[in-house]
Amino acid sequence: MIPTQFDDRFPDIRDAVRALCAEFPDEYHRKVDEARAYPEAFVDALTRAGWMAALIPQEYGGSGLGLAEASVIMEEINRSGGNSGACHGQMYNMGTLLRHGSNAQKELYLPRIASGEWRLQSMGVTEPTTGTDTTKIKTTAVKKGDRYVVNGQKVWISRVQHSDWMILLARTTPLAEVKKKSDGMSIFMVDLRAAEKSGMAVRPIPNMVNHETNELFFENLEIPAENLIGQEGQGFRYILDGLNAERTLIAAECIGDGYWFLDRVTKYVSEREVFGRPIGQNQGVQFPIADAYIEVEAANLMRWEACAKFDARQPCGAQANMAKYLAAKASWEAANAAIQFHGGFGFACEYDVERKFRETRLYQVAPVSTNMIYSYVAEHILGLPRSF
Ligand SMILES: Cc1cc2nc3c(=O)[nH]c(=O)nc-3n(C[C@H](O)[C@H](O)[C@H](O)COP(=O)(O)OP(=O)(O)OC[C@H]3O[C@@H](n4cnc5c(N)ncnc54)[C@H](O)[C@@H]3O)c2cc1C
Repeated sequence: MIPTQFDDRFPDIRDAVRALCAEFPDEYHRKVDEARAYPEAFVDALTRAGWMAALIPQEYGGSGLGLAEASVIMEEINRSGGNSGACHGQMYNMGTLLRHGSNAQKELYLPRIASGEWRLQSMGVTEPTTGTDTTKIKTTAVKKGDRYVVNGQKVWISRVQHSDWMILLARTTPLAEVKKKSDGMSIFMVDLRAAEKSGMAVRPIPNMVNHETNELFFENLEIPAENLIGQEGQGFRYILDGLNAERTLIAAECIGDGYWFLDRVTKYVSEREVFGRPIGQNQGVQFPIADAYIEVEAANLMRWEACAKFDARQPCGAQANMAKYLAAKASWEAANAAIQFHGGFGFACEYDVERKFRETRLYQVAPVSTNMIYSYVAEHILGLPRSF
């Protein structure tokens, strides 16, 4: 493995996650990708070892670790050649419940999520006609007695087929009737298997990555009123509260990817001989790899800054967004260098570069696109006028 500045942080966690991941070598992830299957055995092993419950407080059966430690788990999964995208929702989706759920909800859900008995891997926000403009969502939840009745549609909702519960964002007060456009939306716990039997249809979306993601159609889906999280109308704010953790963890995944590409390409260009010498002896080959390394290390600094602020309960929106931006960009540059200098072999599935290349590309678009991060920085940090 190439040296990194930060490998000495949380060495016990790193070693333990690396040891578990070593039981799932390249061939395992390659076969899962080829079969467009879910890495069930891998996710089960991570869950049984308690890694997915890192952020759940000990009183609810988790390990009560900070975001820094949790980010190391995600980084190591991706650095091992795996893809945290299959399971990262289980680590951070519960944050919404933890911060805004009632005591009864926390006691009901969190211990079962911590043990892995229940998976809370899905979060339903994006809609086909509104996209990034979340406050315009058209899915509605109307209270009728002790139930809410949901109608509408979502798109790109991940891991629905490998989750027991989903957090759903829906409008409970029409946009025309609220003072602020971010008011009037609420979040609910949706029992996915019950919903599939009545009121919710799931249509998988075949896509570039082996990422289980779906369109959801709601027709009079009934949700018990006690599944509302927090106060009615405050759901958008609750979702926003969780984004800093999500963005920082995904930054760590991209950093893991970046190091994985750099590990592989450095080894390959040192061994591959063309024109009678290793291709890595040419500066035309060395420099893009060195450039990608510098970018990943720099992104890593911002990731640790975001973790430190989050764990100290300080505002960290700027650092979390910038870490996600820098890390997604750096991993993509490392991916480009890796595929380029593997030559034709970069395109061969057996080298795994093309798989990781596809996987890491996603993070410039989801869960937040690069343009939205520019927009956040321009508006919230630089004080430029709102553009939307
Ligand atoms: C594999 C995958 C998994 C996903 N999983 C989930 C999930 O589990 N749950 C969920 O809720 N969503 C999920 N998403 C959705 C994801 O968060 C959105 O795709 C993403 O936020 C972008 O929204 P959109 O696709 O509607 O793009 P659009 O909003 O249509 O935007 C398209 C492009 O235009 C740019 N753009 C739009 N408006 C502006 C503007 N004002 N200024 C500058 N640029 C702009 C965007 O940056 C983007 O690049 C997933 C997406 C994918 C691909």
